[in-house]
Amino acid sequence: MNEHVHTVSIQFDSKPMKFIMSTATPLLTPRHVAVIGAGAGGLVAARELRREGHQVVVFERGEELGGSWVYTSEVESDPLGLDPNRKLIHSSLYNSLRTNLPRESMGFRDYPFRRKEEKGRDSRRFPSHGEVLMYLKDFAADFEISDLVRLKTEVVFAGVGEGGKWTVRSRSVERECVDEIYDAVVVCNGHYFQPRLPNIPGYFHFSCINAWPGKQMHSHNYRTPEPFQDQVVVLIGGAASAVDISRDVATVAKEVHIAARSVEEDKLGKLPGHDNMWLHSMIDSVHEDGAVVFKDGNAVIADFIVHCTGYKYDFPFLETNSVVTVDDNRVGPLYKHVFPPALAPWLSFVGLPWKVAPFPLFELQSKWIAGVLSNRIALPSEEEMTKDIEAFYLSLEESGIPKRHTHNMGTGTADVQWDYNNWLADQCGVPAMEEWRRQMYMATSKNRLLRPETYRDEWDDDDIVQLAEHEFAKYQI
Ligand code: FAD
Repeated sequence: MNEHVHTVSIQFDSKPMKFIMSTATPLLTPRHVAVIGAGAGGLVAARELRREGHQVVVFERGEELGGSWVYTSEVESDPLGLDPNRKLIHSSLYNSLRTNLPRESMGFRDYPFRRKEEKGRDSRRFPSHGEVLMYLKDFAADFEISDLVRLKTEVVFAGVGEGGKWTVRSRSVERECVDEIYDAVVVCNGHYFQPRLPNIPGYFHFSCINAWPGKQMHSHNYRTPEPFQDQVVVLIGGAASAVDISRDVATVAKEVHIAARSVEEDKLGKLPGHDNMWLHSMIDSVHEDGAVVFKDGNAVIADFIVHCTGYKYDFPFLETNSVVTVDDNRVGPLYKHVFPPALAPWLSFVGLPWKVAPFPLFELQSKWIAGVLSNRIALPSEEEMTKDIEAFYLSLEESGIPKRHTHNMGTGTADVQWDYNNWLADQCGVPAMEEWRRQMYMATSKNRLLRPETYRDEWDDDDIVQLAEHEFAKYQI
């Protein structure tokens, strides 16, 4: 690692603490920062904050770092995720999951997700989930981030008090609740763990399903196909997980019926290449005899409904006196999806945008936060940020983009995430995102549509892979 780090001991809340400081950048105004979550977002936030000279503590309620990429066969006590008192499981991974992005475009910019041919590693271009976890653990080890992470420590409260300091209350197995004071809080708690069962036009009203006699689950609790042996399964949703899970389930189920919105008429019916899969329009109604009726007029008697209907943002620990709210899945008001103007820069969020290449975007958001906190990068005034947010919301409304898609960068033009990344890079004074990343993302999206079954093993963008490899040669590790 060509980064220079040294350890500094300081007193904090009367306890001696050690922080590894980076001398890669001159020390500006160091802050004491709490990072909530040690997934990809929290890990890269910790690295960027420390590089900038801040003192960082990462709170992670899980037993290991890696967030979503820590697979478990365990499922929640309520398979639909409706019971607020259910046992929570963070990860939504299923056993067969392979990445839906190629490794070159998934990795952090300066820490390529290289193939490793060692035993136990998955060197495929679209590797299994275990390989991503190993990559994140390598990242944490190489940048000595693990030392900053307090595992099995859940933040149960984070709120701003008098004098603008943040109280972070955490609880772990060793000790009940402890309050600590921080200058700033960076929220990196992920947004793929709280199931969403929408009661919105286009989906049937969820409450009407109570009388339906079959079994149901949200995709958050899907792990393996075995429970679906010889069953007639209806799967709701059209996004990446729905596609993967339907294929997985079809290996053992009697029939799989996919109910999706916005399906072109000529695509409805039996799926080519499968003798037990059908594509339908959305569900119209469900009945006490087990019937599921689709809007296209077809009906099946089903045993199981799997809701691949996405997730909700949830920050149960965050107390902002309603400055930040989640309204119809819009977390706001946030300047550029990161800073609430009234609490900036002391509260920030990493990782809210979706339909993106997440890791490099998290990296840029984190660099921006770190630079703003140290006063190296200036934010506009609160009023200017608020105006910017209002203009953004208006532009969504005018384009007919629903509120719940505020953080979806896959709507509108194909360039939303790249424009956003480049805006962040510009703020941070680092080079714009490499053009090959955009090209590879587009090529993968195209290939996924062309070869939905085989895009992870067949592709046409080897020329772009070469550009990526050329770029990666710059980095030692
Ligand atoms: P997470 O990884 O969810 O991490 C959040 C962490 O915060 C967790 O460790 C959690 O335990 C912790 N936490 C939460 N609340 C608290 C609290 N109160 N106190 C302490 N700790 C807390 N991305 C890709 O790039 N490629 C893919 O192929 C891909 N496939 C995906 C497939 C599925 C099924 C899913 C669900 C996501 C996929 N993603 C993929 C997106 C993936 O979520 C992101 O890549 C990324 O891992 C998200 O990182 P994060 O840090 O934002 O959140």
